[in-house]
Parts: sequence; structure tokens; C-alpha cells
Amino acid sequence: MLPGPNYIYKCPKCNTLHQQMSLMSGNTFGAMIYSDGNMFAPMMPDIPKITLCTECRQIFWLDEQNLVGTYDFNDPINEAFEQAASVSHLYLEDLIYVIENSLYRNEDEEFYIRQRLWWVFNQKLLKDSELLGNQHMKSLYQNNCVRLIELFKGEYDNERVFIAELYRNLGQFDRCMDILKSLQDEEYKERKQALLKKCKEKDNKVFLVK
Ligand SMILES: [Zn+2]
Repeated sequence: MLPGPNYIYKCPKCNTLHQQMSLMSGNTFGAMIYSDGNMFAPMMPDIPKITLCTECRQIFWLDEQNLVGTYDFNDPINEAFEQAASVSHLYLEDLIYVIENSLYRNEDEEFYIRQRLWWVFNQKLLKDSELLGNQHMKSLYQNNCVRLIELFKGEYDNERVFIAELYRNLGQFDRCMDILKSLQDEEYKERKQALLKKCKEKDNKVFLVK
């Protein structure tokens, strides 16, 4: 893993500086990949695109608008930059807040938030199967899956495999199997078999594929 410069962003509400690492290169050595595409890779960390201010809890996008500079290890010392808090990923409740208040400005940002919400929910469901016993949580989860199915265009197998997974997560096993049967790409042969097996077992939980 080869890190690139650190990017410095300011909170648009209170101006507190935050830093975000960047990667020149990374790899998936030792990665854990789940059936919903969520990957935990020590050599290729998932760098957040949106964060929560450590001072005032304002949620803001890490974009050009809030970028104030960069620094690299061989740059002159800039204490303010170096002492800035590292950005972190949003937790479930913050992701829900972003969705409920439509704090995204286009379909790419909406997709990013909804995919993260899907992943965070799926990880929590592995540990707490009662989570969706709460009606509000259940409709949030289901509506999010339905909207993600719309946002994935479904033109190619690399999207259709995730549309199939979303239907399986929703418990629509027949729909999932129909889509799986349409996959042609050899790359998804193993995944397809694993998902078909889960459908036959009526198991809708996310699982480790690698
Ligand atoms: Zn702030």
C-alpha cells in the first residue's frame, strides 16, 4: 500500500480542519469480501466521501468545496494540517439522517449513501437479527434496497449480481434466482452458485464470499 498526500477539509459550519488520507496504490491482499460487495481490505482502506465534524457534528461531503489544501510527508511543517482530526465513516444513524434529509445532490451521491447504508445494515444484521423487528428500521432497510435496485442500472452482470443480492436480502428468492440465471460472465460463476444455494435455503443474510 502506497499512501498519497493527505487532503485537508474544513467543516463548512465551524471551519474545523479534518484530514483524509489518500492512496497512490493499494491491493486486496487479505481482504474480506461480502456478498453485498462490502470489502474490508487492510491494504486498501475505504476512504470516506462524507463525514461528521468532530467539533459540531455537522455532516459534510469531502469535496472540492470544502478542500483547503494537501500535505505530504516531505512538505514544510504545517501544524494546523498535521493536527487535524482524521475523517471517519458515518454510522448507521448518520446515514439514515442523510437519507431522511436528502443531503445528497445527485444520483452518484445518493448511490454512495444508500450503498453504505445497505452495507452497514447488513453487517449489523449478522450480529443482531432482531434489528428489523422495529417497523421503522424494517421499512428503512427495505425502501433502501428497492431504491438501490433502481439506481443500479442492471445493464451488465457486475450490476445484476448486486441486484440479485438485493432481492435475496429482501427475501424475494424467486426474483433473485431469475436474475442469477441470466448471468453469463464466467467471473460470477462461483458467486452465482453460492447465491443460488442461499436462495434454496431461504437465507437472506449477507455472507462472506472471500
Ligand atoms: Zn463543524
